[in-house]
Formats: sequence, structure tokens, C-alpha cells
Amino acid sequence: MIKEALTYNDVLLTPQYSDIESRSEVSIASILRGNGPTTKLGIPIIASPMDTISEEEMGVAMWQEGGLAVVHRYNTIVEQASILDGIIVNAGCNAAAAIGTSGDYLERAHALVEAGTRILCVDVAHGHHTLMKQALATLRQVFGDVVHIMAGNIATLEGYNDLVDWGADSVRCNIGGGSICSTRIQTGHGVPGFHTIIDCARSDRHAPIIADGGIRNSGDIVKALAAGADFVMLGSLLSGTDETPGDTINTREGAFKSYRGMASKDAQVEWRGKTASLEGIATTVPCKGPVEDVLWELQRGVRSGLSYSGARTISELQAKARFIRQTSSGQAESATHILKR
Ligand code: IMP
Repeated sequence: MIKEALTYNDVLLTPQYSDIESRSEVSIASILRGNGPTTKLGIPIIASPMDTISEEEMGVAMWQEGGLAVVHRYNTIVEQASILDGIIVNAGCNAAAAIGTSGDYLERAHALVEAGTRILCVDVAHGHHTLMKQALATLRQVFGDVVHIMAGNIATLEGYNDLVDWGADSVRCNIGGGSICSTRIQTGHGVPGFHTIIDCARSDRHAPIIADGGIRNSGDIVKALAAGADFVMLGSLLSGTDETPGDTINTREGAFKSYRGMASKDAQVEWRGKTASLEGIATTVPCKGPVEDVLWELQRGVRSGLSYSGARTISELQAKARFIRQTSSGQAESATHILKR
């Protein structure tokens, strides 16, 4: 029997009676909690650990807007630690930092904690893996509860449960759904992101769920939170903003910035000097201006989304949410369609 798995596009939330008179009554705060230190964020949005998304400027901006960035690991230990130092010691902000599960990961973790972070993100494509188990055991042994450990990615309830049992405080959920991801094409593996969140939210463990990848608009954020996610992690929605690393490319069609998967050929050649399995693509996206404007628009949509379900907080949304499945005609009706007339 083959299981059926739904995507964000396949579902809608049913509007419900609401006594919320102003969207300012709605809180979209969320807590990154666990055995390590707790971080309360004003908005449930985390920027992806990618070299075209999260370095110093994004780290500072995300923290100032109430979110968090995970500084990527595709550089030398000294470079990554210096980016963190800039965010934490100059700017007085907070940021998480990514490490791998092999090679210099422990040395890197020491340098990042030394630079001031208390949130490490064990960042690998296939997190339900023996190397993840070993790395989490080592990190817990070395750092105890001094750090919050985010880990992933996984795509199943079993993966989520194992990572939590191995020592993860929070888990990045979803494999193969990212906008620049070609894992499902290259390997035939993955699970639609919405299904993964529904699946992981059934767990009796309580580690925060981070819905990572494939989020295209504020409606998808609301659906992810309602399905059980505590946070969303965004790449493409933040790409092209002023705070992303990289130069602006000016063309006759307008200004663009680069956005690329960390398993794309471009990224692999640049950071490793060779390629392994190619599971991502590289592209350019139009410049979007300050990330503050993008986040402002997203949070307005999310607050409005909570109010349609009559919910003042994310946990109230999760308790009240009623999903319905929509047909392909429903999907066509849900998209703006006057131009197709
Ligand atoms: P997006 O928000 O849909 O653009 O997805 C961003 C997410 O895609 C990241 O947070 C990662 O989990 C994932 N990702 C980044 N690079 C790659 C890649 O090269 N292949 C597959 N997934 C990737």
C-alpha cells in the first residue's frame, strides 16, 4: 500500500469564528527551547544556512526584526567565526551557526561557541544518519547544555524522534522541497513538506519543529505553523534582499542577485573544489530591497492568517486549525486568476 502525502498547495485552512478586533492582538512569537539555552523570537522565521542568504548583514537584520539567521558553514572556520563575532560582539545581536557532522566540525563548533553563539545547527542533507548520531553524542558530551543544538534535515516521524533522542533540541524538517533543490529528481527520495510537518507533529517528543524549504508565501507559513511547526526556515523568500551576501548584477532587465543550493555545481566547486552528487541548482533572482520590508509583508500575512482561524497565538492556531483538502480546480480558484480570463 503506497501512502499518500499532501503538499502545502493541496490544503487550505477553513476560516473560523473570530473575536479578534485588531491584528495587533495577535502574537506570532515562538520559542526555540530545549535542553540548551532558550531563545524567544518575535517572529517564527529563521534564515537558511546558505552562502547566498546568511552572513553578517542578514544575521544582524534578522535578529533586529525578531527572527534569527543561521550563519552558513561554507567557508573557513576563521571566516565563519569572524562573521559571528561581527553579529554578536559589534552589533550586539544573536545568531545561530552551522556545522557539519564530519571533518573539522568539532573544531568549528568550538570556534563558533568561542565567538559567542549558543545555537549550533548540525546542517546536513540527510540527517537521519549514523554520522548525525555520532556528532550529536559528541556535541552533547563536549558542550553539555551550554548550547542549543538544531539538527536536520529529516523527512519522517522516525527521523524526528531519533534526532531528538540522539540529543537535538530542535529539528529541521523536510527533504527535497526547497526552491533550488533537485534531490527528488537526482535521487528519487523526499517527502512533501506539509506531510512531513503533519507527521512529525504526531510525535510524543516536544522539540521545536522547523519547517524548512518550499515555503513560497505567508499563506504557506500559516499552513506550516497550523500543521505543527514552531518556525519556518526561509531561503528563496529572503533571497535577493539587500542583506544577502554577493554582488548585485545589473542587466537591462533589472538588478539581480545570486541564489544557489549548497549542493549545486557552482557552490560545490567553489567550496570544495570538486563535485559530489548534484542536488541543487544555481540561479539569479530580482533584487528585493531591505529584508525588513519582506519580513514586514510576511508577518502581516501571518497575523492575518491567525485571525482567520480565530487564533491569538501560534499554539492557539495549532489547536483550532481545520484543514481541508482542495482539488486541482480549487487550487486554480485559490490563485489569482483574472489574467487567465
Ligand atoms: P527555499 O526556502 O524553498 O528556497 O529552501 C531553502 C532550503 O533548501 C534550505 O534551508 C535547505 O534546507 C535547502 N537547501 C539548500 N541548498 C540545497 C541544495 O542544494 N539541495 C537541496 N536542498 C537545499
